[in-house]
Amino acid sequence: MRIVFFSSKKWVVDAFQAANATHGYEFNHLEARLTRDTASLADGYDVVCVFVNDIVNESVIDRLVKGGVNTLALRCSGFNNVALRRAEELGLDVVRVPAYSPYAVAEHALGLMLALNRKFYRAYNRVRDGNFSLDGLLGFDIHKKTVGVIGTGKIGLNLIRVMRGFDCRVLAYDKFENPEALEAGAEYVGLEELYASSDIISLHCPLTHETYHMINDYAIQAMKPGVMIINTSRGPLINTGAVIEGLKTGQIGYLGLDVYEEEADLFFEDLSDQVIQDDQFVRLQTFPNVLITSHQAFFTQEAVQNIAETTLQNVKDLVETGTSVNMLKVEDVYGNGRK
Ligand code: NAD
Repeated sequence: MRIVFFSSKKWVVDAFQAANATHGYEFNHLEARLTRDTASLADGYDVVCVFVNDIVNESVIDRLVKGGVNTLALRCSGFNNVALRRAEELGLDVVRVPAYSPYAVAEHALGLMLALNRKFYRAYNRVRDGNFSLDGLLGFDIHKKTVGVIGTGKIGLNLIRVMRGFDCRVLAYDKFENPEALEAGAEYVGLEELYASSDIISLHCPLTHETYHMINDYAIQAMKPGVMIINTSRGPLINTGAVIEGLKTGQIGYLGLDVYEEEADLFFEDLSDQVIQDDQFVRLQTFPNVLITSHQAFFTQEAVQNIAETTLQNVKDLVETGTSVNMLKVEDVYGNGRK
């Protein structure tokens, strides 16, 4: 079994090498992102392994299949970057890692909230510079505040539990109610009410045609003045221009991002000696109340180990049984009912 990895990094090499001890597959790690231009590098491989910012659209799938690839193994849970219908039409099996650590992402969302509220990033730099003034560092008690959680699947549920630990009132919105979220103490409400009542809003739904730019001018105006917005889900849930306007007027009081609309050209690379060309991203960085991390919410030892082990198990299951519990099928994803 020959597997080619796109967008590979040291952590990918290390984690998959450790997980491969029980499989003995042949690996080729490429730093290149999968795009139409790089798809031919997969010629002759059985499996292509990709991550969140690889492009797996129809033309890329056509090229992969032409080169003999039979399996696309996503080493992530989100699959908004994959033209699933085309893959199914051409018999390209697609597997993913649906849950490698919902704790990691929920904990990172909490980390962004606490850091923004208590301004850890500013305090850290000040103290290192011998500036011990507290001016501008005033925070608020998260205790008993109202937190809106949009998307109450695996990650949203964990965040609900965490926020209930702060005695917060948790308002939840999802297309489908999760009984465990109710048990954890969340109240399901409509989006309008969630926007109007929440002090903090955290996004945990997938990127779909319905959720694309759900945080737009209209949504921001419907929120409480000074609201904190946290996005650890997918960048395009937020219209960047709209949040910049919201930050300028003060309607948005805090913004924590682990994902960004145009992150594919930035995140996971060291660009520290280059001029960043994305003006909206640079504008975001000028606000004192914006904290951005580069898609690292998943990045814990436990999650990385799970990603590697589950990805290789998915491949093994496909080879041995022709299917996998983690196979993405068009009917399951786009059919009626809960996934
Ligand atoms: P999940 O499938 O368990 O939960 C997603 C929830 O969103 C489901 O309950 C679903 O019903 C709900 N949903 C779907 N469409 C919706 C809509 N239009 N409005 C409201 N809710 C809707 O997924 P998860 O494991 O909790 O992951 C959530 C998202 O987190 C993923 O889609 C992925 O994009 C993102 N993620 C980010 C990182 C990171 O490192 N930043 C890591 C893993 C996952």
